[in-house]
Order: sequence, then structure tokens, then C-alpha cells
Amino acid sequence: MIKTAYQKGLNFAKEMDLQDPLASFSDEFHIPTQKNGDKHIYLCGNSLGLQPKQTASFIQQELDDWANLGVEGHTEAQHPWMPYHEFLSESMAKIVGAKPSEVVVMNTLTTNLHLMMVSFYRPTSKKYKIVIEADAFPSDKYAVESQLKFHNIDPADGLILWKPREGEHLCRLEDLKEIVAENKEEIALFMIGNTNYYSGQFYNMSEITKLGHDNGIIVGFDLAHGAGNIQPNLHEVGADFAVWCTYKYLNSGPGSLGGCFVHERHANNKELKRFVGWWGHNKDTRFNMRKDFDPIPGAEGWQLSNPPILSMAAIRASLAIFERAGFENIREKSEKITGYLEFLLSDFAGDKINILTPKNPKERGCQLSIQVKNADKSLFDAITKQGVIADWREPDVIRIAPAPLYNSYQDVFAFAELLKKLI
Ligand SMILES: *Cc1c(COP(=O)(O)O)cnc(C)c1O
Repeated sequence: MIKTAYQKGLNFAKEMDLQDPLASFSDEFHIPTQKNGDKHIYLCGNSLGLQPKQTASFIQQELDDWANLGVEGHTEAQHPWMPYHEFLSESMAKIVGAKPSEVVVMNTLTTNLHLMMVSFYRPTSKKYKIVIEADAFPSDKYAVESQLKFHNIDPADGLILWKPREGEHLCRLEDLKEIVAENKEEIALFMIGNTNYYSGQFYNMSEITKLGHDNGIIVGFDLAHGAGNIQPNLHEVGADFAVWCTYKYLNSGPGSLGGCFVHERHANNKELKRFVGWWGHNKDTRFNMRKDFDPIPGAEGWQLSNPPILSMAAIRASLAIFERAGFENIREKSEKITGYLEFLLSDFAGDKINILTPKNPKERGCQLSIQVKNADKSLFDAITKQGVIADWREPDVIRIAPAPLYNSYQDVFAFAELLKKLI
């Protein structure tokens, strides 16, 4: 990235907005409004992305086709429902750096995580341990622990936490290497959340995958905070599987469907154990109900049910915006605008603010996790009261995520000014 010489003052923010090739995209989103009629400053796209204005018409199209066609919509709708998930594959593959046959949109994140572990966590009496980050998102930890218990393994024995060192907040790759050196005969699976939801740290996925594969370990990633934020390059990286949701940076609506990646090296492996349903069955014979299960090659073979079209329509609407904006442009702005936030905070923070997120733009997405010295939740509540929507994580972290598609440099400036005033 070209190093931007950031400057203080509102004029600089205005100038950056004028030069921003993505500036017009914020008009394509509904920005929540405060009671006094002003727009919120929304810095919470890491939790729930904003609604694209075109989402309504994409969903309306499906409602109309349902109203007018009934069951015939499966084949006759403008976007026929039977192959509807296929309309998402190409755009979604670009988002995560995969081949279209390696991705499928289905279920929700935690469900997909379980389905993937059913196939890719196959413990033996010797090789049965799972490594996750100590600060993994709770659902991931619960899912992993329950998988261990499902195989009659005590998590106290089977779960290894990759922890930041005493007094640090970020996980170091050399510590993961150390864990592997000590336990390599026993580790079956790396299940790493990437980017970390708490610290915003984006791990080196290539190195982690190589480390795993060199030691006979299956490697899976949770990209809940990565998809639409960083480019995880899943195919190149060579991860075995990955899962993510679409309601955070992918702006597809609360509780919307998740994504799932299975590397093509597993695409035709019919021996791989899996939990199955009719939607994963060979499309040519899916309706000859009584055939033996014959999985579709690739990620689609893990589908269970015919999917909710209304939710998929929202994902189509959102991915169309990513296509138009171009992910390289999004990522470029992400680095710039996040660097700008960091610059403004550093300018007045002194030792009052500690940014947990890595300084290196290659090791983070657009989120900065900040700790304010001696602050409690009342600071966060004051920020909220002034119209900024951000995110608070116990015990003392405020997560700020300027989303490149709809946040402006002036948003970031206004937030920094507010924080300066409040502390
Ligand atoms: C948001 C998030 C989830 C949420 O899981 P759902 O199954 O979509 O409710 C899980 N894991 C991580 C890391 C997350 O960031």
C-alpha cells in the first residue's frame, strides 16, 4: 500500500472523501437514523452490516414470483429457485478467493462448522486433539467442545488453546509452532477463527495451513470476521475447509445464511463421512427419491435442505454491490481508512488508549479494538448517546470497524473527535 500522509483536521477528512472512488456506495445503503433525525455514525459492520437499498427489490422479486407462480417458481421464476444457490457461487468464490465449486451458501455458520467437523474431524485414539485460539468466539468454542464430547473425549484433554503470552493480546505464530512441536502426534485439527473477532488480528493463513499440513493436521478456518473484510485466498492457502456468515461485512441481513468452503482436493472424495440431505444429492437424480445417496462433487455435496430463497436474495443483492465495487478497491480503502482511524487515535491518545489490533495492515482488516485506560462501559454508553454505533466487548474493549463500502473518512473523524472530547 502507498503510505498515506495523514493529517489532522476536518478538511483532510473531506479531501479524502472527495478522492475516494468508493464514496458513492454509501448512498446505496440505509444508514440508521437517530431520534433527532440525524444519521448515526455506524461503525459496527463487524457485527451487523447495513442494509443495501436494493435488497428490498431483490426480495420483492422472489415474493412476486412466489405469488404469481407458486411451486412453478422452482423452475420458472426469473431466478429459478431450484439452482438458486448457484447464482451466488461465483461472487462468493471471489470474496473468499476460491473456485466456485469450492463454495456453497447454506445453513448458518455454527451449523456449517458442525457439518465440516463431522467430515474433517475424525479422531483416532492417538490423534484426536483440536487447537483453537484462546479468544475464539464463544459459539466456535462450544461447537468444538461438543464435537470432542460427541467422540467421548474430555475437552480438558482434547482441546488445546493457542493463547497470547502473559501481558500480550495477540497470538504469535511461533507459539502455535511450539504447540505443534509438543503435540504433533496428537493434534488432529486446527480450527482457527480468522480474523479474530476480539482483537481484529488476521493470522497468516498460509503459514498456519502449511504448519498443519506438514504435521498431518487438518486445517479449518472460521471467516466470520474475514469474509468481505480481508481476502483469505482460501484456495491458494490450501485450507481444508472454512465457514463464515453473511450478516457482518457481507451485509445480507440478520441471521442470514452462511458460507462454506471445501477445498477441491476433497471434492470427489465420496469416502469422506458426512451428514447428508437430499439437496447434496446428484442433481440429475435428486427427484428419483429412492436412489442411494450420490453426493454432488464439491462443496454443494454438503447441502442438506432446499434453501430459504428470501435470504439468498438478500445475499445476491449484497454480492452484486461487492462485484461492482471490486474487492481490491474495498481492501485498499479499508487499509487507508483504518490507518486514518489509528492515526487520529494515536494523535490524542498518549497512553490513555491501547489499540489491541496489530499495527501491520496485512495483519488486520478494518476493525480496531481499543482499550481506554480506566474506562468502563459508561464511556461506551456516552459514545452511543452521541449517535455513534460501535460495539462493546467485556471487560473493556470497544470495537470500531469503518466499513469501506459505507463509511466515510468524515465518519472516522467525527468518532475520533467525540472520543477525544469524552476522555
Ligand atoms: C459472528 C460469529 C459467529 C456467529 O455464529 P452463527 O452461527 O452465525 O450465529 C460464530 N463465530 C464467529 C467467530 C463469529 O464472529
